[in-house]
Amino acid sequence: MNIYTDCHVHTELSYCAEQGLTPQFYVEKLKSLSEPGAVCITNHGMALYFPGEIAWKWEFITDSAVFDKWLDSGNKKLSEHIREVRGIACPKLFVGIEVEMMNDGRLTFDPCFRDDLDIIIGSVHFLPVSAPCEDTRRRWLEHTLKLINSGIDILGHPFRWIRAQMPVREEDVRTVVLEAQLAGVALELNSHYLIDTDISMLRLAAELSAKIAIASDSHKKEDFGDYSYHKKVIKQSGVNFKNLALYKFSKRISSVKGRVY
Ligand SMILES: [Zn+2]
Ligand SMILES: [Zn+2]
Repeated sequence: MNIYTDCHVHTELSYCAEQGLTPQFYVEKLKSLSEPGAVCITNHGMALYFPGEIAWKWEFITDSAVFDKWLDSGNKKLSEHIREVRGIACPKLFVGIEVEMMNDGRLTFDPCFRDDLDIIIGSVHFLPVSAPCEDTRRRWLEHTLKLINSGIDILGHPFRWIRAQMPVREEDVRTVVLEAQLAGVALELNSHYLIDTDISMLRLAAELSAKIAIASDSHKKEDFGDYSYHKKVIKQSGVNFKNLALYKFSKRISSVKGRVY
Protein backbone atom coordinates (compact mmCIF):
# COMPACT_ATOMS: atom_id res chain seq x y z
CA MET A 1 0.00 0.00 0.00
CA ASN A 2 1.13 3.55 -0.69
CA ILE A 3 -0.33 6.99 -0.81
CA TYR A 4 -1.70 6.30 -4.28
CA THR A 5 -4.30 3.87 -2.97
CA ASP A 6 -7.33 6.11 -3.15
CA CYS A 7 -10.24 4.75 -1.10
CA HIS A 8 -12.86 7.28 -2.12
CA VAL A 9 -13.82 8.66 -5.52
CA HIS A 10 -17.12 9.33 -7.27
CA THR A 11 -18.41 8.92 -10.79
CA GLU A 12 -21.16 10.75 -12.63
CA LEU A 13 -23.70 8.53 -10.85
CA SER A 14 -23.31 10.81 -7.82
CA TYR A 15 -25.39 13.95 -8.31
CA CYS A 16 -22.61 16.21 -7.05
CA ALA A 17 -20.00 14.81 -9.48
CA GLU A 18 -18.96 15.98 -12.93
CA GLN A 19 -20.67 14.44 -15.94
CA GLY A 20 -18.28 12.28 -17.96
CA LEU A 21 -16.51 11.08 -14.82
CA THR A 22 -16.70 7.33 -15.47
CA PRO A 23 -15.06 4.18 -14.08
CA GLN A 24 -13.08 3.98 -17.33
CA PHE A 25 -11.61 7.44 -16.65
CA TYR A 26 -10.06 6.13 -13.43
CA VAL A 27 -8.68 3.04 -15.16
CA GLU A 28 -6.91 5.21 -17.75
CA LYS A 29 -5.70 7.73 -15.18
CA LEU A 30 -4.24 5.00 -12.94
CA LYS A 31 -1.81 4.17 -15.74
CA SER A 32 -0.33 7.68 -15.60
CA LEU A 33 0.37 7.84 -11.85
CA SER A 34 4.03 8.05 -10.91
CA GLU A 35 3.65 5.10 -8.51
CA PRO A 36 1.41 2.03 -8.79
CA GLY A 37 -1.97 3.00 -7.42
CA ALA A 38 -5.44 1.64 -6.86
CA VAL A 39 -8.84 3.26 -6.63
CA CYS A 40 -12.18 2.41 -5.10
CA ILE A 41 -15.29 3.97 -6.61
CA THR A 42 -17.59 4.90 -3.75
CA ASN A 43 -20.67 6.65 -5.05
CA HIS A 44 -23.22 8.11 -2.68
CA GLY A 45 -25.87 5.72 -1.42
CA MET A 46 -28.28 8.67 -1.53
CA ALA A 47 -27.69 9.04 -5.29
CA LEU A 48 -28.05 5.32 -5.96
CA TYR A 49 -31.20 4.96 -3.86
CA PHE A 50 -33.08 8.23 -4.37
CA PRO A 51 -33.99 10.53 -7.26
CA GLY A 52 -32.18 13.87 -6.94
CA GLU A 53 -35.17 15.82 -5.64
CA ILE A 54 -35.67 13.30 -2.82
CA ALA A 55 -31.97 12.95 -2.00
CA TRP A 56 -31.28 16.65 -1.50
CA LYS A 57 -34.20 17.09 0.91
CA TRP A 58 -32.35 14.82 3.41
CA GLU A 59 -35.71 13.66 4.79
CA PHE A 60 -34.45 10.06 4.75
CA ILE A 61 -31.99 10.92 7.55
CA THR A 62 -34.83 11.60 10.00
CA ASP A 63 -37.40 9.25 8.45
CA SER A 64 -35.97 5.97 7.15
CA ALA A 65 -39.40 5.02 5.73
CA VAL A 66 -38.34 7.17 2.75
CA PHE A 67 -35.44 4.75 2.18
CA ASP A 68 -37.77 1.73 2.34
CA LYS A 69 -39.99 3.30 -0.28
CA TRP A 70 -37.09 3.53 -2.75
CA LEU A 71 -35.37 0.30 -1.71
CA ASP A 72 -36.21 -1.85 -4.75
CA SER A 73 -35.28 0.71 -7.39
CA GLY A 74 -32.12 1.59 -5.42
CA ASN A 75 -31.08 -2.05 -5.19
CA LYS A 76 -31.46 -2.38 -8.95
CA LYS A 77 -29.33 0.71 -9.58
CA LEU A 78 -26.64 -0.39 -7.11
CA SER A 79 -26.59 -3.90 -8.55
CA GLU A 80 -26.13 -2.55 -12.09
CA HIS A 81 -23.37 -0.23 -10.89
CA ILE A 82 -21.45 -3.02 -9.16
CA ARG A 83 -21.79 -5.20 -12.25
CA GLU A 84 -20.52 -2.42 -14.51
CA VAL A 85 -17.40 -1.77 -12.39
CA ARG A 86 -16.67 -5.48 -11.89
CA GLY A 87 -16.99 -5.94 -15.63
CA ILE A 88 -13.94 -3.75 -16.23
CA ALA A 89 -10.83 -5.90 -16.30
CA CYS A 90 -8.58 -3.81 -14.07
CA PRO A 91 -7.27 -5.44 -10.89
CA LYS A 92 -6.62 -2.00 -9.37
CA LEU A 93 -10.23 -0.89 -9.66
CA PHE A 94 -12.52 -1.57 -6.71
CA VAL A 95 -16.12 -0.74 -5.92
CA GLY A 96 -17.64 0.42 -2.65
CA ILE A 97 -20.22 2.93 -1.45
CA GLU A 98 -20.41 6.09 0.69
CA VAL A 99 -23.44 6.09 2.95
CA GLU A 100 -25.10 8.03 5.74
CA MET A 101 -26.73 6.66 8.89
CA MET A 102 -30.48 7.18 9.25
CA ASN A 103 -32.57 7.80 12.38
CA ASP A 104 -33.03 4.08 13.10
CA GLY A 105 -29.28 3.33 12.83
CA ARG A 106 -29.48 1.76 9.37
CA LEU A 107 -27.12 2.84 6.59
CA THR A 108 -28.36 4.09 3.22
CA PHE A 109 -27.78 0.86 1.33
CA ASP A 110 -29.27 -2.62 1.53
CA PRO A 111 -27.00 -4.79 3.75
CA CYS A 112 -27.51 -7.67 1.32
CA PHE A 113 -24.81 -5.95 -0.78
CA ARG A 114 -22.30 -5.84 2.05
CA ASP A 115 -20.19 -8.73 0.76
CA ASP A 116 -20.35 -7.49 -2.81
CA LEU A 117 -18.70 -4.17 -1.99
CA ASP A 118 -15.01 -3.68 -1.24
CA ILE A 119 -15.42 -0.65 1.01
CA ILE A 120 -18.26 0.83 3.02
CA ILE A 121 -17.59 4.48 3.88
CA GLY A 122 -19.84 6.07 6.49
CA SER A 123 -20.01 9.87 6.37
CA VAL A 124 -21.94 12.69 7.97
CA HIS A 125 -23.33 15.03 5.30
CA PHE A 126 -26.44 16.23 7.09
CA LEU A 127 -27.79 16.25 10.63
CA PRO A 128 -31.12 17.75 11.70
CA VAL A 129 -29.31 20.27 13.89
CA SER A 130 -27.02 23.09 12.80
CA ALA A 131 -25.91 25.83 15.11
CA PRO A 132 -22.58 26.47 16.79
CA CYS A 133 -23.70 25.30 20.22
CA GLU A 134 -23.14 22.50 22.72
CA ASP A 135 -26.27 20.63 21.66
CA THR A 136 -25.04 20.46 18.05
CA ARG A 137 -21.64 19.21 19.19
CA ARG A 138 -23.17 16.60 21.49
CA ARG A 139 -25.55 15.28 18.83
CA TRP A 140 -22.82 15.15 16.17
CA LEU A 141 -20.50 13.23 18.50
CA GLU A 142 -23.23 10.79 19.50
CA HIS A 143 -24.12 10.22 15.82
CA THR A 144 -20.48 9.80 14.80
CA LEU A 145 -19.70 7.25 17.53
CA LYS A 146 -22.78 5.25 16.54
CA LEU A 147 -21.80 5.48 12.86
CA ILE A 148 -18.33 4.12 13.67
CA ASN A 149 -19.99 1.05 15.18
CA SER A 150 -22.53 0.53 12.40
CA GLY A 151 -20.39 -1.86 10.35
CA ILE A 152 -18.52 0.64 8.18
CA ASP A 153 -14.89 0.23 7.08
CA ILE A 154 -13.95 3.91 6.88
CA LEU A 155 -15.25 7.03 8.60
CA GLY A 156 -15.42 9.50 5.70
CA HIS A 157 -14.11 13.06 6.28
CA PRO A 158 -14.55 12.57 10.07
CA PHE A 159 -14.75 16.23 11.14
CA ARG A 160 -15.99 18.02 8.02
CA TRP A 161 -19.60 18.49 9.10
CA ILE A 162 -18.89 19.64 12.65
CA ARG A 163 -16.05 21.92 11.46
CA ALA A 164 -18.55 23.67 9.19
CA GLN A 165 -20.61 24.44 12.31
CA MET A 166 -17.95 25.32 14.86
CA PRO A 167 -14.30 24.84 15.87
CA VAL A 168 -13.57 21.23 16.82
CA ARG A 169 -12.30 20.42 20.29
CA GLU A 170 -9.11 18.39 20.61
CA GLU A 171 -10.87 16.10 23.10
CA ASP A 172 -13.49 15.26 20.45
CA VAL A 173 -10.79 14.39 17.91
CA ARG A 174 -9.29 12.03 20.50
CA THR A 175 -12.66 10.45 21.30
CA VAL A 176 -13.40 9.78 17.62
CA VAL A 177 -9.91 8.43 16.84
CA LEU A 178 -10.01 6.14 19.87
CA GLU A 179 -13.49 4.83 19.05
CA ALA A 180 -12.40 4.16 15.44
CA GLN A 181 -9.33 2.31 16.64
CA LEU A 182 -11.40 0.14 18.99
CA ALA A 183 -13.89 -0.65 16.21
CA GLY A 184 -11.16 -1.33 13.62
CA VAL A 185 -12.53 1.47 11.43
CA ALA A 186 -10.16 3.64 9.38
CA LEU A 187 -10.19 7.43 9.60
CA GLU A 188 -10.15 9.18 6.29
CA LEU A 189 -7.55 11.76 5.30
CA ASN A 190 -9.62 13.54 2.69
CA SER A 191 -8.34 16.24 0.33
CA HIS A 192 -11.70 17.36 -1.07
CA TYR A 193 -12.24 19.86 1.75
CA LEU A 194 -9.22 20.77 3.85
CA ILE A 195 -9.95 20.53 7.56
CA ASP A 196 -7.75 21.95 10.31
CA THR A 197 -8.22 18.83 12.45
CA ASP A 198 -6.24 16.65 10.01
CA ILE A 199 -2.90 17.17 11.74
CA SER A 200 -4.16 16.30 15.21
CA MET A 201 -6.12 13.37 13.75
CA LEU A 202 -2.91 12.00 12.17
CA ARG A 203 -0.89 12.42 15.37
CA LEU A 204 -3.55 10.69 17.45
CA ALA A 205 -3.94 7.93 14.86
CA ALA A 206 -0.21 7.26 15.08
CA GLU A 207 -0.29 7.39 18.88
CA LEU A 208 -3.30 5.11 19.22
CA SER A 209 -2.54 2.83 16.22
CA ALA A 210 -5.73 3.76 14.40
CA LYS A 211 -5.92 3.14 10.65
CA ILE A 212 -5.77 5.98 8.12
CA ALA A 213 -7.42 5.83 4.69
CA ILE A 214 -6.10 8.02 1.86
CA ALA A 215 -8.88 9.66 -0.12
CA SER A 216 -9.19 12.30 -2.81
CA ASP A 217 -13.01 12.15 -2.74
CA SER A 218 -12.77 13.07 -6.44
CA HIS A 219 -15.88 14.71 -7.89
CA LYS A 220 -14.11 16.04 -11.00
CA LYS A 221 -11.49 14.60 -13.33
CA GLU A 222 -8.96 17.18 -12.17
CA ASP A 223 -9.34 16.04 -8.53
CA PHE A 224 -7.89 12.57 -9.09
CA GLY A 225 -4.26 11.57 -8.88
CA ASP A 226 -2.96 14.49 -6.79
CA TYR A 227 -1.90 13.41 -3.30
CA SER A 228 0.23 16.44 -2.52
CA TYR A 229 -2.14 17.53 0.29
CA HIS A 230 -1.87 14.13 1.97
CA LYS A 231 1.92 14.18 1.73
CA LYS A 232 2.09 17.75 3.01
CA VAL A 233 -0.20 17.25 6.01
CA ILE A 234 1.51 13.99 7.01
CA LYS A 235 4.83 15.84 6.91
CA GLN A 236 3.42 18.74 8.94
CA SER A 237 2.07 16.34 11.55
CA GLY A 238 5.58 15.03 12.16
CA VAL A 239 4.35 11.45 11.88
CA ASN A 240 6.59 9.07 9.97
CA PHE A 241 4.58 7.81 6.99
CA LYS A 242 5.93 4.31 7.56
CA ASN A 243 4.43 4.36 11.08
CA LEU A 244 0.94 5.09 9.84
CA ALA A 245 -1.37 2.08 9.61
CA LEU A 246 -2.77 2.58 6.14
CA TYR A 247 -6.11 1.02 5.36
CA LYS A 248 -5.86 -1.90 2.94
CA PHE A 249 -8.78 -2.39 0.64
CA SER A 250 -8.56 -5.67 -1.14
CA LYS A 251 -10.01 -7.76 1.62
CA ARG A 252 -13.47 -8.62 0.35
CA ILE A 253 -13.42 -9.10 -3.38
CA SER A 254 -10.30 -10.03 -5.26
CA SER A 255 -12.03 -11.18 -8.43
CA VAL A 256 -12.47 -8.52 -11.07
CA LYS A 257 -15.38 -10.47 -12.49
CA GLY A 258 -17.45 -10.31 -9.35
CA ARG A 259 -20.83 -11.87 -8.92
CA VAL A 260 -23.70 -12.23 -11.28
CA TYR A 261 -26.84 -10.70 -9.81
ZN1 LIG B 1 -18.82 12.68 1.68
ZN1 LIG C 1 -17.55 11.43 -1.25
